[in-house]
Amino acid sequence: MKTLLLDRPSVIHDPPHVLEDIIHGHSIPPKHFKLEIDYDGIAWMTFDSPKSSVNVWNEETLREFNHHLEIIEHDTRVKAFVLRSAKDRIFVAGADLKAIRSMPHARVNDLIWLGQAVFDRLARLRMPKIAAIHGACMGGGFEVTLACDWRIASDHDSTKIGLPETQLGILPAWGGSTRLPRLIGVRKALDLITSGKLLNASAAKHAGLVSHVVAPEHLETLARRLAREKRPVMRIHLENLFSPIIRHFAKKKALAKTRGLYPSIIKAIEVVTQAAHVEIDDGLFLEHEAVAELIKSRDTSRLIDLFFKRDEANKRPALVGTAIPIHDAVVVGAGVMGAGIAHTLASRGVRVLMTDVTNDSLARGLERIHGLVSDAARRRLVSKVQARDTIDRISTACTPVPLTRHHLVIEAATESIELKKKIFADLAARVSSDTILATNTSALSVAELAKTVPHPERVIGLHFFNPAHRMPLVEIITLPETAPDVIATAIAFVQKLGKTPIVVKDSPGFLVNRILVPYLMEAVHLHQSGISVHDIDEAMLEFGMPMGPMRLLDEIGLDVATHVAKTDAFDPMLAAGHLGKKSGQGFYRYENGKEIAPEAHEKLPSHESIQSKLALLLSQEAMKCLKEGIARNADDIDLAMVLGTGYPPFRGGPITFARDTGIIDY
Ligand code: NAD
Repeated sequence: MKTLLLDRPSVIHDPPHVLEDIIHGHSIPPKHFKLEIDYDGIAWMTFDSPKSSVNVWNEETLREFNHHLEIIEHDTRVKAFVLRSAKDRIFVAGADLKAIRSMPHARVNDLIWLGQAVFDRLARLRMPKIAAIHGACMGGGFEVTLACDWRIASDHDSTKIGLPETQLGILPAWGGSTRLPRLIGVRKALDLITSGKLLNASAAKHAGLVSHVVAPEHLETLARRLAREKRPVMRIHLENLFSPIIRHFAKKKALAKTRGLYPSIIKAIEVVTQAAHVEIDDGLFLEHEAVAELIKSRDTSRLIDLFFKRDEANKRPALVGTAIPIHDAVVVGAGVMGAGIAHTLASRGVRVLMTDVTNDSLARGLERIHGLVSDAARRRLVSKVQARDTIDRISTACTPVPLTRHHLVIEAATESIELKKKIFADLAARVSSDTILATNTSALSVAELAKTVPHPERVIGLHFFNPAHRMPLVEIITLPETAPDVIATAIAFVQKLGKTPIVVKDSPGFLVNRILVPYLMEAVHLHQSGISVHDIDEAMLEFGMPMGPMRLLDEIGLDVATHVAKTDAFDPMLAAGHLGKKSGQGFYRYENGKEIAPEAHEKLPSHESIQSKLALLLSQEAMKCLKEGIARNADDIDLAMVLGTGYPPFRGGPITFARDTGIIDY
């Protein structure tokens, strides 16, 4: 490319009021951006923060970006503007939350104004503006593109686009809540903003977030072509005129779903539906007011803390040991979990051999996998090619085959210690001496299984949760003798699957199920003492759990719960054949898998005492696990409970809850 590198401002004049101090600074040496103006008059602005694999917006990057915009504004040679990133997998990851977390509120306020003003300046540039998106484009990273005329995206796996702010207790306040409804209409904007979901390039195009999707190597050519075209005229979305009505129904639905526990979602609905039909400046003002209020809340800081804990756990390598990359794995058992795990592995590029005892079980497992893959393709979570590749990576066997070239075996056969011991002994004879033997058992002793093999140091627990493709947590169960390389490999492998690994010790129920057991048993006890199933579940839904404990027991199955909790509390129900949802009757009644409306009953006026009793049990057991060293620290326990059970994230986890409310001496 013929380029002319500019790094000094040519003219400084008439800044908009809010930018005064920025522009009256002096020339800023380029650090995060490279601005090149080519002979076609295209200004190529490349975001490339030094010594970092990511680009984020903070005071420094926003000021520098602004400085470059000023140069462009006053350079008559510039006819078009292209924003792109030089990073491998990141366009712009959003706002610099680390910096924001440690700022006083007044500075956060200033930062919000700054971002709004800079992106508004970009929006006002009188030339075609193109955002060439390759890699993660989230939050503020997407908001800057909304100030452009064209958004084009690469079809690379790393390209993910969305506005996840509400999941952190805030909302898009750098123009996202105002510009997105103008681009795609209020309803679709609300869907994206209140769910916080991230879309791949194809889904983003379908949703109208980007206009073109091309291979990464074609982004530049496409940007160059669009730079010569007229700026597109923004389509008017008639539905935006009806936003007060949309607001009414969206709020009603969100309140019913979230029980008012997520104020950021309600605020986002209010702001988006108002901002959609007022002047841009007024929309920006609404965004600012709303986010300035939300950012002060304790719930928001807990959500942001949790985000960092998870991010850390997703990246943190093992303290000792060397991870070996796993490309081939065996999954033993093609049932609910085996098929789910095989699908998860294959969708992340691992070749899988799935085994079971009969062809019928394998066929059922494969059918389940086909269902998951086509569902993902239908919802545009994966492309047709990715779907085909996932299926192609799975092979099956129901006769003993040599397993010497596989580095990892995950056993997910029927829950029986005798059966699993036999499987382990048999596997040990067929794998090579450095193969890792993992079990997905929910409640059996990993140590017992390790005794059956000649290399117990290569045995580990990999406890996936159901449904495996959706649940983000995997407990890694270690024994004192487990080799550091095996632990390191397991951690890296789980991270490669896009899941969060939490290392725990081998003890009954491991971590998550152990903390759940006293809570579930107390719920049963409350029910036996006369409180209705409905009141117990409602109380915990109001606390923020995604599902009440009685319904959870029905879902787990009372036979499985008996085995995990080692209790006789369910014996009368089991004797009557009431196993939970799968048998049509548990604490609730079901027909064709759907609950039959419960009989009318008098509702308890207050659920507080149920809530405090049950929440206390979760926190108490979590503290016991901490003291016994079942997990490595309090953060891991909190994170595991949020990811494994849906413990309300805004409460931070059962240990943070205990500490913040003082219900237990911490
Ligand atoms: P499932 O009954 O759906 O599947 C078990 C499969 O193992 C069956 O297809 C069966 O034919 C197969 N099998 C039996 N003997 C075998 C052998 N010798 N070799 C190969 N395959 C054999 O059970 P599931 O729910 O998938 O559970 C599997 C394991 O995962 C259990 O240890 C369970 O505790 C654990 N787990 C289950 C859940 C859950 O919610 N279902 C969650 C986490 C962990």
